[in-house]
Amino acid sequence: MNYDRIMIRYGEMSLKGRNRKHFVHKLKKNIQFMLRDFEKIQIESGWDRMYIVLNGDPVDPIIEQLKNVFGIQSFSPVIKTEKNIEEIRAAALHIANEVHSPGNTFKISARRTDKTFEYDTNGLNHAVGAHILIHLDDIKVDVKQPNLNIIVEIRQDAAYISGQIIHGAGGFPVASSGKAMLMLSGGIDSPVAGYLTMKRGVGIEAVHFHSPPFTSERAKQKVLDLARKLAQYSGSVKVHIVPFTKIQEIIHKEIPSGFSMTATRRMMLRITEEIRKKQGGLAIVTGESLGQVASQTMESMLAINAVTNTPIIRPLIAMDKLEIIQIAEEIDTIEISNRPYEDCCTIFTPPAPKTKPKLEKMEQFEEKVDWTPLLEEAVHDTETIMISARVQSSTADLDSLL
Ligand code: ATP
Ligand code: MG
Repeated sequence: MNYDRIMIRYGEMSLKGRNRKHFVHKLKKNIQFMLRDFEKIQIESGWDRMYIVLNGDPVDPIIEQLKNVFGIQSFSPVIKTEKNIEEIRAAALHIANEVHSPGNTFKISARRTDKTFEYDTNGLNHAVGAHILIHLDDIKVDVKQPNLNIIVEIRQDAAYISGQIIHGAGGFPVASSGKAMLMLSGGIDSPVAGYLTMKRGVGIEAVHFHSPPFTSERAKQKVLDLARKLAQYSGSVKVHIVPFTKIQEIIHKEIPSGFSMTATRRMMLRITEEIRKKQGGLAIVTGESLGQVASQTMESMLAINAVTNTPIIRPLIAMDKLEIIQIAEEIDTIEISNRPYEDCCTIFTPPAPKTKPKLEKMEQFEEKVDWTPLLEEAVHDTETIMISARVQSSTADLDSLL
């Protein structure tokens, strides 16, 4: 007798009355996609649980993949049995025996959704617990801090027995709430912003501004590697690489240096807006955090934001850098972000950017140049690369993609 399926408990989405069907459907699709390498599994979805029937596929790598799927609150490898106390006891004993060593402690946590079952939860705890005490040597019950917690769920269709509850990633299924364009630099913040937005159920396409020869291929590779980390939560991520050199040079020449940072941000946002429209996105996501740098004061944000009415999602706006770094460590983007290659903004950063740029002044300075054809050209020459979570060796992958 072995684990034959994985039971999935839904996260927050179980609160959503009418949308629930849609979320469950999306979650199933996402799980199917994330587990596409496993050919034997079957997914059964129900109102409040989903089951991955293993059919002989290995449980451990599937568990690793499931940890990255948003919309899952928790999950457990389970043995499914008839609602018959002998079978339930046998499954529980099997699970306890697998991990048993002398001196172990355990408890049984029974739950019933089928209230007609002959044992109530207390009765089940005792009936199953006694069976384990009889059959295993040197094992004790500890209801407070057991080494092993055996969960017995009596549901309408069957009984499910498991030995562990694994934390899921929480949130909503990715792309269950539409798609947004993530402005992805090579820094620490924007990948974290992307991760948090995906967690709320939003699909992500990345937009990156690249200024060769001032920024190197390695800077671009860094962004593709970050996108690959984000792709772990969705299977793949599209990255739009925008050639930005010409616009940056013109800004550098034509705009007074204190305002060049603001102008650069405004142009980036206008281009991202055009790409968003083309791709059918509903919002723009940035890694901005209030007060962190000159371009992230309230005044700067007002001047930058004035170029668009599109909702801008800023998941990090009120976070401290240390909190952001902690998430970057958890999602394993920090090392990539810390690679030293220059970003287009770092190179063109003026010595003293205005921290309180006035919008009217900014607009006056910009009037000197006809930006529209420049922006159109940048959008037209944008290169789109599909990054998949699967490929590990990034340079080889880039070569084959380019
Ligand atoms: P990050 O660590 O994400 O680079 P930051 O603290 O360095 O952020 P800024 O450089 O001011 O902050 O950038 C603010 C936001 O603007 C970034 O989080 C990102 O969303 C966007 N951004 C900056 N540079 C680029 C770029 N080259 N391509 C795409 N988006 C960018
Ligand atoms: Mg940056």
